[in-house]
Amino acid sequence: MKLILLGAPGAGKGTVAKMLTNLDGSVQISTGDILRGAVRAGTELGKEADGYMTRGDLVPDSLIMGIMEERLKEEDCQSGFLLDGFPRTIPQAEALKVLLEKNNIKLDMVVDIDVPRDVIFDRLCTRRTCENPECTAIYNTKSNPTKVEGICDKCGAPAVQRADETEEAIGHRLDTYTEKTAPVAGFYEKEGLLNTITGTSSDVVVDGIKKELGI
Ligand code: ADP
Ligand code: ZN
Repeated sequence: MKLILLGAPGAGKGTVAKMLTNLDGSVQISTGDILRGAVRAGTELGKEADGYMTRGDLVPDSLIMGIMEERLKEEDCQSGFLLDGFPRTIPQAEALKVLLEKNNIKLDMVVDIDVPRDVIFDRLCTRRTCENPECTAIYNTKSNPTKVEGICDKCGAPAVQRADETEEAIGHRLDTYTEKTAPVAGFYEKEGLLNTITGTSSDVVVDGIKKELGI
């Protein structure tokens, strides 16, 4: 399947994407995970992105498009992908449209996961993320804790609170989302690709997507 997952930070894009990859082997492409990997590895990209990310600002579109252009060319994307956290601005959506047309790729649909803001805020404050770039499992200290505190169940690496998951940065990320990313849903509505699914449970969202795709 070739899908875009839209939704606020903490709406469950990453969790839903991981569940969908188990269905047909499509790959999850998370620009946030790619950027965090680059920051940890200390690459040029990581050095450029770090400050924006810690503040809860968006990384410049040009950097993101460079990453995506390369990533979509890779062999593992050819049979299917789930874009998680991209596109996040109208210019990114427009550039993606050109990129897909150039490569003859057709999206199946765009899913907007709609979750109330108070639920989101609470979730982000209690989210824990596995540091291992090969794993990136997501936990929640209240609803889905690790078996051993601070250690990923799946791979044993530290499961930590992200640097941008302070209350201040979270508030800023949500404002950025409202201002810059929420309009992207309108872009895909005009393209006739948008499906909004309201639900705070990732299982319900995945079921809704399967039903839409007829699988
Ligand atoms: P979340 O969806 O929980 O906010 P992500 O892991 O998707 O988290 O993104 C973390 C940070 O990485 C963002 O706050 C932003 O700084 C940067 N980022 C990720 N994807 C993009 C993108 N498509 N455009 C600009 N910045 C991005
Ligand atoms: Zn892990």
